[in-house]
Amino acid sequence: MKVLLVLAHPEEKSFNGAMFEAAKEIFSRDGHEVKTSDLYRMGFDPVSDRRNFKSVKDPQYFKQQVEEGHATESGTFADDVEAELKKLEWCDLLILQFPLWWFSMPAIMKGWVDRVFAFKRVYGSGKWYDAGVFAGKKAMLSLTTGGGEAMYEPTGVNGDLHAILYPINHGMLRFVGFDVLPSFISWSPAHRSAEDRAAELERYKETLSQIDSLVPIKYPALTDFDEHFKLKVQVTK
Ligand SMILES: Cc1cc2nc3c(=O)[nH]c(=O)nc-3n(C[C@H](O)[C@H](O)[C@H](O)COP(=O)(O)OP(=O)(O)OC[C@H]3O[C@@H](n4cnc5c(N)ncnc54)[C@H](O)[C@@H]3O)c2cc1C
Repeated sequence: MKVLLVLAHPEEKSFNGAMFEAAKEIFSRDGHEVKTSDLYRMGFDPVSDRRNFKSVKDPQYFKQQVEEGHATESGTFADDVEAELKKLEWCDLLILQFPLWWFSMPAIMKGWVDRVFAFKRVYGSGKWYDAGVFAGKKAMLSLTTGGGEAMYEPTGVNGDLHAILYPINHGMLRFVGFDVLPSFISWSPAHRSAEDRAAELERYKETLSQIDSLVPIKYPALTDFDEHFKLKVQVTK
């Protein structure tokens, strides 16, 4: 399997950094091919604008999707975007590794999605969800939190973490076609003992070594929606 690991953490020696290294180790040990995008160490530019392109379709008015369509046809994405697109297209499994920041991913990783998930190349023209460009490929979030597990239960003070992750899992990964595996969540590593953290890394390695057995999150198929993209009502007695 070809695995792309994307890391967003400013500190290389962080627990997220350790999880990233653990994933590299376990996939390499198990004979998989691994590519990485360590966004901070790469100095990845997360700002999405004309710098995404070597070409200009409309010099008067910048509309990102118009320029993305043009760059797809003319092969004129900027070198840093093109390099990430190639890695994304290459992989069978994408893992996004990040600390939960403001109930989401760090801005550098959101910028990676904003710039790399390009119209016409990665989605569009009827290619979305289960008919998406990456249909048949898998993706997974691996993240850490500051808050503890109880805070992120449906009745917890922060609300259900799975609902918080829905915009990423469904709105980004599923949107472009990936089968989305259940997120690996390491709760509150900074507030746990060294032994607990070591055990968490082992739990992560164990999960990754059995990744083929993980069942993707169930989302409705496009055929479950009517002509207005509303879910068809299922009549049950
Ligand atoms: C801008 C911002 C927004 C945030 N928003 C939220 C939010 O919305 N919700 C929320 O819950 N939290 C939030 N947080 C907290 C954040 O999610 C946590 O601080 C983060 O997830 C902890 O992961 P880390 O990798 O940074 O841990 P670190 O603090 O880097 O690491 C924890 C400990 O693990 C140790 N460690 C490193 N490597 C290893 C190893 N190999 N083995 C064992 N131990 C190791 C480190 O030395 C450290 O002691 C936010 C933080 C910031 C900065």
